[in-house]
Amino acid sequence: MPTIVENVKAVQASLKEKLAQTGRETDEVLVVAVTKTHPVETIESALKAGIRHFGENKVQEARRKLPFITEPYEGFHYIGRLQTNKINALLELEPILIHSIDSLNLAVNLNKRCETRGRVQDILVQVNTTGEQSKSGCEPGETIELVQQISDLPNLRVKGLMTIGLMSDDAEKTRPSFKLLKELFDELKNKENAGYEMRWLSMGMSGDYLTAIEEGANIIRLGSVLFGERDYGGDR
Ligand SMILES: *Cc1c(COP(=O)(O)O)cnc(C)c1O
Repeated sequence: MPTIVENVKAVQASLKEKLAQTGRETDEVLVVAVTKTHPVETIESALKAGIRHFGENKVQEARRKLPFITEPYEGFHYIGRLQTNKINALLELEPILIHSIDSLNLAVNLNKRCETRGRVQDILVQVNTTGEQSKSGCEPGETIELVQQISDLPNLRVKGLMTIGLMSDDAEKTRPSFKLLKELFDELKNKENAGYEMRWLSMGMSGDYLTAIEEGANIIRLGSVLFGERDYGGDR
């Protein structure tokens, strides 16, 4: 089995090659290592291997792990569904970026909790680019208005968009999801005003990150390509 160090190196090499092809610099892209289901030791191994940012998708799990990480890191990212009753617990962990804000109601709640704490929180608006009912994210057609509405909330700063592309063994099937998110990103960027900044385009996971890079991603969220398949326990 390849080690985490080897996996990180392999990802960095393929990323560098892809970026060179598209005329971009390696340091333009932020790799978020997705450490859900993995223990603290795995997070620390990734940090030792050169990873600077990692992400979790459950507040409870992040709460169990973060206090025990002794290696320094630049940012903890929250990438999962966020329930209103978990907002305070999440904010205690000081996420550098929350990728998964997909409704005005959630944003208003988050803004209120941030206000109480005197915190200004960077967020991404998550868009459902696949049309699947089961997926989180606002509708593509609502995105522009939602970004504008969230921009009016004083304790949140909209920094870009996020999506989870279509799950498929064939990354080409996922490409339209990424194209759609990039279109929305560009449209918002053209209107850019003091209220928000289109800085980050968070798209691409282990199976499709090179495709996402081709379509303009500058945050990729990688789990299994770094850490192997996840074991959720139980008998599945
Ligand atoms: C689990 C997860 C990932 C990483 O998935 P892999 O396919 O293992 O790379 C990325 N983004 C989100 C939102 C996730 O929940």
